Amino acid sequence: MLHIEGLTKQYKTDEVELFALKNINVHVSKGEFVAIVGPSGSGKSTFLNMLGCLDRPTSGSYVLDGIEVTRLKDKELAGVRNQKIGFVFQSFNLLPRATSLRNVEIPMLYAGVGMAVRKKRATAALQRVGLGQRMGHKPSQLSGGQRQRVAIARALVNQPSIVLADEPTGNLDSRSSMEVMSIFQELHAQGVTILLVTHEADIAQHAERVITFKDGCIIKDEQVIDRLFAT
Ligand code: ADP
Ligand code: ADP
Repeated sequence: MLHIEGLTKQYKTDEVELFALKNINVHVSKGEFVAIVGPSGSGKSTFLNMLGCLDRPTSGSYVLDGIEVTRLKDKELAGVRNQKIGFVFQSFNLLPRATSLRNVEIPMLYAGVGMAVRKKRATAALQRVGLGQRMGHKPSQLSGGQRQRVAIARALVNQPSIVLADEPTGNLDSRSSMEVMSIFQELHAQGVTILLVTHEADIAQHAERVITFKDGCIIKDEQVIDRLFAT
């Protein structure tokens, strides 16, 4: 479902030219749960920005669901982003004055979905992350783990092809982190494709595959085999 070949990203600033990604090749199948790890500055964020169609590579190919994304015009790219990709951020990015239900409805507003269907789908998404009893709560009335679960429900609500999560446990204590990772594992069991960036090795062990970046290259790409012992 996701094919990346020879993906390269070069940043040019006044003084220096820097390759943030160098000739990356990755294939991710539908339903995989992939963690992306590596030291700060290794290219993880840049890679996620490419996957999320938030930025364009300097060269190389990115095919998502059979679409060569790198050839699309900006407007078409925005369409792919809205329809095919669900984003989860470190800082949740919820509207503080809106209830969980309203927050989860937002992607459907952009997609032009009618009110009744919006409410029905947002309700189902919140139930899916275990927040059926918190639909009328605002972010300030929720724990960190619950806030991130609202954000995950929002990422899911348009039924994206992939969910991209950038340090989703970075602002959470260890208990909330486990709560959020177990939701990702449940979604994985239901067939959702997930790519998650983290710098924490124990968080990465919740995935089924770990890709390690260093200096803009993939230096390791391996299946997690000790799941039974990792918990
Ligand atoms: P990571 O997410 O692993 O910390 P990044 O993808 O943020 O790594 O950064 C990879 C490299 O690219 C770093 O050297 C960083 O400074 C550089 N970089 C990232 N974004 C930009 C940008 N917009 N302009 C110039 N350099 C950038
Ligand atoms: P993260 O904490 O996710 O690794 P960073 O702090 O590396 O993110 O980067 C935050 C933002 O700043 C990103 O959008 C990245 O592209 C941009 N950025 C990172 N390094 C540079 C740089 N050297 N010059 C310009 N922008 C940068």
